[in-house]
Amino acid sequence: MVTRPVLNRRYAGFGNTIFGVMSARALATGSVNLGQGFPDVDGPAVVAEAAAEAVLTGKGNQYPPATGIPELRAAVARHQRRFYGLDYDQDTEVLVTAGATEAIAAAILALCEPGDEVIAFEPYYDSYVANIAMAGAIRVPLTLRPPHFRPDLAELENKITGKTRLLLLNSPHNPTGLVLTREETEAIARMAIEHDLLVIADEAYEHLTFDVPHVPFATIDGMRGRVVSIGSAGKSFSFTGWKIGWVTASPDLVAAVRTTKQFLTYVNGGPFQYAVARALDLPDSYYTEMATDLKAKRDLMASGLADIGFEVYQPDGTYFITTDIAPLGETDGMEFCLGLPDRAGVVAIPSAVFYDDHPEAGRTQVRFAFCKRQEVLKEALSRLSVLAR
Ligand SMILES: *Cc1c(COP(=O)(O)O)cnc(C)c1O
Repeated sequence: MVTRPVLNRRYAGFGNTIFGVMSARALATGSVNLGQGFPDVDGPAVVAEAAAEAVLTGKGNQYPPATGIPELRAAVARHQRRFYGLDYDQDTEVLVTAGATEAIAAAILALCEPGDEVIAFEPYYDSYVANIAMAGAIRVPLTLRPPHFRPDLAELENKITGKTRLLLLNSPHNPTGLVLTREETEAIARMAIEHDLLVIADEAYEHLTFDVPHVPFATIDGMRGRVVSIGSAGKSFSFTGWKIGWVTASPDLVAAVRTTKQFLTYVNGGPFQYAVARALDLPDSYYTEMATDLKAKRDLMASGLADIGFEVYQPDGTYFITTDIAPLGETDGMEFCLGLPDRAGVVAIPSAVFYDDHPEAGRTQVRFAFCKRQEVLKEALSRLSVLAR
């Protein structure tokens, strides 16, 4: 038996992610799981068939090229051109990764020296905090506050110091559903240029917006050479188990990210890469229908939760909706979520876990995922109605 702690100090306090804990509760109690964000309907059949065909015909069953198969890199480049008018060279400016998750980790590890400061929106996507710790860098939160969760740009400017290396930006933003406007994107880009900062743009939800269009940082003048843009097939095509993501950036940035990426997974998901190449070329109608479908679900959840008595912060993008439980007479989101399976047969996530100084910040915020079938959402709302006062 070792007597010292086995987990090194950099990870002390990380424990198990809340998603594992809450999904286990959902299973044990037969609850409707609106905790972890995964769709309950798989993506298009043609894409699934392309994956099956690749496996059966021996495409990608052995290590694919380190940067990803050429078919997928070409499809990513076509996608960036079609939707954003951005030109990327498929050989030097595109990198396929094990989901957006690996892209973020590899980018942070590649671009940060120990002690560098990384500014990121808080509440955070949970892997950001861990990745910044792995790099020995220092996280500097820019807190997004309800009801609109818009970033305070003056506060952002004040947080930039001589040690700031990176802006780690996520829009559309999980968990708040914030979608940066063009004006906000331009203002943040100006700061990055003025202070010579790099930007990691986590655009996993680029196609999941309802009212405000997504504006990639890479499209802003002067940003093309300093932004690492990240996409996710899991989010864009509803195949979260495949873990295929991609990076688009200038050749020096892609080379840097590739350097760390090769020692994380080296490569992954060979046959799925063929299928995602097919998916990226789906017609515009696929992308718009997916967003329209999600918008209807957002509206259903927003009005249903408001009717029950939650304060609802309407998201402009992603498949998450943040609420405040104070109007229900509740004072603690963690306690509320731990009790919710027994009380109502529903699982949700306490947003406090996405904040640094939890349990204070976001103490009464609770996040629901709505990437589920309408009848499942209706069942959840009906169960939650026991909370109405
Ligand atoms: C889901 C998610 C990711 C990870 O995407 P994968 O492709 O599943 O690895 C990254 N960033 C945000 C904000 C996400 O919500």
